[in-house]
Amino acid sequence: MNIQLSGVTKEFGKTAALSSVDANVKDGEFIAILGPSGCGKTTLLRLLAGFESPTEGYIEMDDKQVAAPYGVIPPEKRNIGMVFQSFALWPHLTVQEQIRFPLLHHKFVPSSIKKRKEARTQEVLELVNLTNMAERMPHELSGGQKQRVALARAVAAQPSLLLMDEPLSSLDAELRMEMRHEIQRIHRHTQTTVIYVTHDQSEALAMADRIIVMKDGAVEQIGSPETIYRFPQTEFVASFVGKANLVPGFWKKGVFHPNGNDMVAWEKREVAPYFMKRGVMPVRPEEFCLKKAGNGLTGRVENVQFQGRDVQYTILVGKDCWTVYHPAPGEFRIGEQVVVELAKEQSALRTHTEGHDNI
Ligand code: ATP
Repeated sequence: MNIQLSGVTKEFGKTAALSSVDANVKDGEFIAILGPSGCGKTTLLRLLAGFESPTEGYIEMDDKQVAAPYGVIPPEKRNIGMVFQSFALWPHLTVQEQIRFPLLHHKFVPSSIKKRKEARTQEVLELVNLTNMAERMPHELSGGQKQRVALARAVAAQPSLLLMDEPLSSLDAELRMEMRHEIQRIHRHTQTTVIYVTHDQSEALAMADRIIVMKDGAVEQIGSPETIYRFPQTEFVASFVGKANLVPGFWKKGVFHPNGNDMVAWEKREVAPYFMKRGVMPVRPEEFCLKKAGNGLTGRVENVQFQGRDVQYTILVGKDCWTVYHPAPGEFRIGEQVVVELAKEQSALRTHTEGHDNI
């Protein structure tokens, strides 16, 4: 399903949950809507589903206007599947009944033969690897299995659009990783357009074709995971998605001079004009390296956290605390003086000519 959002605004009394959102979604795309709590993610999903109408602007689905201030096509006429954080399974139905029940009532499934619906139920059970649990009740399932049932139920009627609202946030870390793969596999198999709401940047980066980053009801940036991560357009995107350090300094002839040591010059890197204007260089924790001595900025180790592959250091440089990932085992101790440099290979990475794919 192709979707176009044009100037979509939603106000609840004096609260503007969404302010003039413009975005497009292409048929078959996996789009993540990423942003902190309260930025309007769920409101956007509810507008797409048809549970709310916009205060201003409109939404088109496959070139047909489905939502505008003066009229809305109701959810049941949009051919949309939905998956929620809470699974929302019916407690009195078995796994296969959960899937079959909406099929029996779904307007988009040809009203023919019971047999066909039964076959589809079995097909979907297989798709989510739950064939051997078809007769179980929800209370006999683990969290991950419940989420698979919710997914199966949502895709059973072959919706043109699948809306997912933080579907993995109630699962533990290991299951979340497993279900990420499952959702990606199901998306590849069904080719359904997916809009996936999350506040977890790693989830959005790992799964989406494109990410819509939101803040305070407005779109901050739209782009592929790589573009969002490597070429943030604002401070918010740089720190929310890449956990970037925002290093103050000044730009001269495309070279950045961080405050605190005029002798340090970080070679030309591709950053958005936004940062040049503000005299800031976004540097992600893995783009720095630490040395005992060298041609960088002097700082002091404030904190050390072992993280497995890397050690996460907090380094006090002037008045700012920077986060630096250094390959384990870490060699620096709390209180030690260190030199922070920009890793060479990282600056090379930044100078490539990839285009920015904002809308
Ligand atoms: P979270 O990640 O915490 O679920 P979110 O990004 O999904 O947050 P929304 O639930 O869309 O954010 O809410 C956006 C803003 O709109 C918030 O300030 C919220 O308080 C407000 N809001 C949402 N729904 C309503 C409502 N029905 N009435 C009044 N205000 C609302």
